Amino acid sequence: TQIMSRGLPKQKPIDGVKQVIVVASGKGGVGKSTTAVNLALALSVNDSSKAVGLLDVDVYGPSIPKMMNLKGDPELSQSNLMRPLLNYGIACMSMGFLVEETAPIVWRGLMVMSAIEKLLRQVDWGQLDYLVVDMPPGTGDVQLSVSQNIPISGAVIVSTPQDIALMDAHKGAEMFRKVHVPVLGLVQNMSVFQCPKCKHKTHIFGADGARRLARTLDLDILGDIPLHLNIREASDTGQPIVFSQPESDEAKAYLRIATEVV
Ligand code: ADP
Repeated sequence: TQIMSRGLPKQKPIDGVKQVIVVASGKGGVGKSTTAVNLALALSVNDSSKAVGLLDVDVYGPSIPKMMNLKGDPELSQSNLMRPLLNYGIACMSMGFLVEETAPIVWRGLMVMSAIEKLLRQVDWGQLDYLVVDMPPGTGDVQLSVSQNIPISGAVIVSTPQDIALMDAHKGAEMFRKVHVPVLGLVQNMSVFQCPKCKHKTHIFGADGARRLARTLDLDILGDIPLHLNIREASDTGQPIVFSQPESDEAKAYLRIATEVV
């Protein structure tokens, strides 16, 4: 709160990047990274003339390498900037490319901040229309420092309809408002599970929690993503659903979200 009350330090755009959209959540495990990956792909599928990048600043638990089926050391450009790795037409950068997959990240705060600085300032994105940023869960130093260092077009907040996740999503939305980042809306993830055999629908985490929160905060619901085996399998095998099954209803839900955010 002290940092916030001091007002915003000067923001500097990322070279070559037109619009930054951050994907955030209050709690871990609600589907933030899955949403970030599929949103990046959906932006590129919806308009193939747009160049899209994906930046994973979830330094404690980077999931972009696995979800985008990428690994390896980024090459350095002539000006000593890291070149993103490319898959499915999306330029990607992640802490996961810079450290061993199984290395425990036991960093002190300052090291985290210097890693974030590196990810924000030492990447040669070329020209991007959209950069989707996968934030760490919660409302800590990383979220604040990203929000204060670069101009952000808007934040997408992902939550399950469960009370505890919604409470944290509420805090997330308030944090962005405090640092003057427009909140584009909420994505309600895992709202319904349909049994593939009997077709019965179950609201495992509750039915309409995100809708209630959206009303309370006067925010839009950008989309409702069902809990679906295909989404999980596609992510885990590094073939995100928007890329591998673009005609599926699940992919269409992400494609609709992409039309809402730009
Ligand atoms: P977070 O980034 O919030 O920690 P992830 O995107 O890593 O969450 O998702 C956590 C797990 O849930 C992953 O295994 C992912 O594949 C799975 N998952 C996310 N959204 C869905 C969904 N709508 N249906 C099925 N599985 C999902």
